[in-house]
Amino acid sequence: MAVPKRKTSPSRRGMRRAHDALTVAAFQECPNCGELKRPHVLCGACGHYNGRAVTAED
Ligand SMILES: [Zn+2]
Repeated sequence: MAVPKRKTSPSRRGMRRAHDALTVAAFQECPNCGELKRPHVLCGACGHYNGRAVTAED
């Protein structure tokens, strides 16, 4: 089995983890109903996208 030759130093470990930070999900108000929705995603509350109804309303 392949095994690392040396112990990873705290500096190396920190460099590896430099890109591990989580980001908060973006939210915008839906222009149709005002509900918070994610950008570029269909509104889950009213089914509108880009100014028109995309889902069937019944
Ligand atoms: Zn909406």
